[in-house]
Amino acid sequence: MSTLGDDVLGSLSTLRDHALGCTRCPLAETRTQVVFGVGDPHADLMFVGEGPGADEDRIGEPFVGRAGKLLTTLIEGIGLTRDDVYIANVVKCRPPGNRDPLPFEIASCRPYLEAQLDLIAPRVVVTLGNFATKLLLDTKVGITKLRGQQFPFREQSVIIPALHPSAVLRNGGAALAQARADFVVIRRALATT
Ligand code: URA
Repeated sequence: MSTLGDDVLGSLSTLRDHALGCTRCPLAETRTQVVFGVGDPHADLMFVGEGPGADEDRIGEPFVGRAGKLLTTLIEGIGLTRDDVYIANVVKCRPPGNRDPLPFEIASCRPYLEAQLDLIAPRVVVTLGNFATKLLLDTKVGITKLRGQQFPFREQSVIIPALHPSAVLRNGGAALAQARADFVVIRRALATT
């Protein structure tokens, strides 16, 4: 059962309103704003990243910096737009200095992500990078082993782990080819699931 009250679990907009005032973990003290998520509330495809960076913290939207531009390009590469999908993160507030989110921060924020998954009910969930993949698949296996595969998730969904766009930017050509291959798997899953 969620640790969020039933009153905030009924719709994405009430959940968002609640999240915007969240003080469940110390990231509330250092954030500029909560980065709840954007996109189609009825999307078939939902991306889950790690957490906001500096650009996202400033603008209030996930994946708007360099990694975000690459994500947008990859989404458009399979014939969709950002408006067709939903994009969220494991933690909704920026960890200072872009450090990794701490286990307590991830646990504190998890009810928001679970409620987003409940309300949006996407058919395909793409976990970008290690944090989202390990959390939602409840595994310690790393992204390089899991990427591009499909795992059953909840009643009628699948999870497809994909390389995080920031890792692709760091690692260059071969990683970009792998990311493109991950998106081919995503496109096929949307066509068949
Ligand atoms: N990296 C993420 O994981 N999420 C964002 O929103 C931006 C960069």
